Order: sequence, then structure tokens, then C-alpha cells
Amino acid sequence: MKSFKKDIIILSKIVKMRDTNKEDIKPVSASELPPEFKKFDKPFGLEQHEFNRIFIGYITQTCLLISYFYFIPFGIISPWFIVINGIYGYIGGLGITVGCHRYWTHKTFKANKALQVLMMLMQTISMQYPIFKWCRDHRVHHKYTDTDADPHSAKRGFWFSHITWLFLPKHPEVEDKLKIIDISDLARDPIVRFQSKYYWELFTVLFYILPMLVNQWASPELTLLQNFIIQHARYGTSLHFTFLVNSLAHMWGDKPYDKEISSSENALVSLLAVGEGWHNYHHTFPWDYKAAEFGYKINVSTMFIHFFAMIGWAYDLKTVSHKLLVDRINRTGDGSHPLFNHAHAHDKTPISKDEKHSETSLPTWGWGDKALSKDDVVITETLFTSKRRG
Ligand SMILES: [Zn+2]
Ligand SMILES: [Zn+2]
Repeated sequence: MKSFKKDIIILSKIVKMRDTNKEDIKPVSASELPPEFKKFDKPFGLEQHEFNRIFIGYITQTCLLISYFYFIPFGIISPWFIVINGIYGYIGGLGITVGCHRYWTHKTFKANKALQVLMMLMQTISMQYPIFKWCRDHRVHHKYTDTDADPHSAKRGFWFSHITWLFLPKHPEVEDKLKIIDISDLARDPIVRFQSKYYWELFTVLFYILPMLVNQWASPELTLLQNFIIQHARYGTSLHFTFLVNSLAHMWGDKPYDKEISSSENALVSLLAVGEGWHNYHHTFPWDYKAAEFGYKINVSTMFIHFFAMIGWAYDLKTVSHKLLVDRINRTGDGSHPLFNHAHAHDKTPISKDEKHSETSLPTWGWGDKALSKDDVVITETLFTSKRRG
């Protein structure tokens, strides 16, 4: 209890603290990772995939089936319930897309401490494990896309990349890369560490207690079991929408920015996954805060970031310049982009695999990755700069 009080005091001081630019940080080796990160290697003493099988597999998928094939068609829950729980699920989804994905994994913008706390709480609603764990997997996914080291490689089939990767032991290559991928920024982030330390407590309140109290208040005749099933149905629905980014958006769609990678532009995924379906663009330019070329085209996450940029909570939004965009479309695109110069397409000598490898080395995971080329850094534009905030 004493330690919890101390952590809360530290956290409240962090929120009040003036934001500082911490661009130059020393890397942290895997052995130096904080203890609150290490305890997630074996949740409740189980191997990660065994825990996933029970929680995400048996419990959640059963609740999904009961809700969609019994509760909804037989009127056990009213349409209002679907709306209320849908909105809550959507808030959790934004915690993943804006917080975990665009902010913590890819560092595409900066945020003041209040927004960081808000995003951390929203991310906890989604129950996709603590921020550091999600970001570490996702950085490895970007760095080693479509190889054995990709945790949910689409090359291993639709269902593997969609969900079954969570139920199977990790490939040894994935285990190796998880140990070496740089997450030193997250290891030093007090909000990320706070969330990891109190993850199960925060999760219990935000995933179960709070939404169940709202449901009970809205419909007192609801039994505890029905209320529990609804929470897992909300969870399962938002999980499947998120998973589509790893499966469908790595299989179907145009590749206007880089035809060599599996990630594709998929409007349906963008609609369901809060704006994350513009996946060919995102893998080509992972440091762009829009995760898409067009900010507001089926992209609620970008609207969210813009809103907080306008009130000064989000700033230094990184985005790809027009010149870099056009160059890349013409150099590696599949020709489906309107800016692709078909007249000169036949003039280009295709880049050989070896040349491509030596030219770019491994793909970058985002802003702050040492693999990001200096040219790309120089040409990147910054919107809502910190100077503008005064
Ligand atoms: Zn990403
Ligand atoms: Zn991807």
C-alpha cells in the first residue's frame, strides 16, 4: 500500500512536470529492463500462449458466440447496450491506435503528460497487455515483416496472422529479436512503467468493474454472468477488428508506396480498426502520425490526434513531405497511385534484392530508430511544433 501511494505521488508529479525533449537517450540492454516488465513473461505462472488460449481463446470466443447468436437476436440485450458497450470498446481501440501504436511504438508525435496518462488508461481498457509488451512485438513486426522473426507473419497464413499466433509458442527467431529490439525509451518512461507495475489492478477496474457498473445501472435486471459475457463480447469484437490489420491488411489491397512488402491499403480494415488499414503507407513511412497519406480519409485516430494538437496536448507531429512521397511512389510503388509517373516507369532499373538490402538495411520501426536514414529525417515535416506552444 505504501509503495502504491508513493507511485501515485510520483505519477501526479510527472503529470504536473513541464515536458522536456529527451531525444538523446542511452540504449538499455535486455538484462537491464525494469522488473515490472519482466513479470509479464509468465502471466499467472502460465506460458503466455497458454494464458492467451484460455482468456482470448476459450472464454472470449465463447462469449462472442453467445452474444452474437443468442443475446442480440433474442433481445436479451437492447440496441442501446450495443451502442454503449461499442463506444467503450472504441475508446479502448483509440488507446491502441493512437497511444500504443502511433505514440509509444512509432513515436510519431509528442504528448504532454496528461495526454499520456489518458492514452495509457484508454489502452488498458483494450486488454492487449501492457504498453511495453505491445510495442515490443510491434517494433519487431515492422523490423522483420514477413520473416520467421515476425511475430504474426502473414506468410504463415491468414488465421496465423489473425489470431492463432497468440495461442502457439513463439518461433525461436521471434524470441531472439524480442530480446534485442530497442525499447530503451519505454523502459525509461514512468507512465509505461507505472502501467506495467499496476497492470492487473488497472485492468480489473477499467475492463470489468467500471463498464459492468454502468451496464448494471442502465439495466438492473441484467445478471452478473450476462454482464460478464457482454464485457468479453466487447473485448472480442475489438480484438478481431485490431487483428484484421495483421491479417487482411497484409493480404489484400493495393501497394502504391512499396510493392515489395505484404502490407496493403485496405479501406474496410481502416473502417473497423479506427484508421489503421492504410497499411502499405504505414509500413513504408512508419514515423508518419497519420499512418496514412490522407489524414481524414476513414481515419478517426488522426482526428483524435488533431483535436489534442489543437488544444496543445499533442505536438511535433511528424509527417512525410510531398517530395519524399512522390519519389517513393515512383521508385517502389505498384503504379496504382495517381501520382505514379507511368510515362517514365519503363526507364527505371528495378532495385535488386541485394541492392535494396544494402541501401536500406533493415526497415525502420519509426521515429528514433537508428535505421531511419538521415535523408528521410531531414525531409520529414513537423506540424504543431513545440515552439508554437510557447
Ligand atoms: Zn505500426
Ligand atoms: Zn503490419
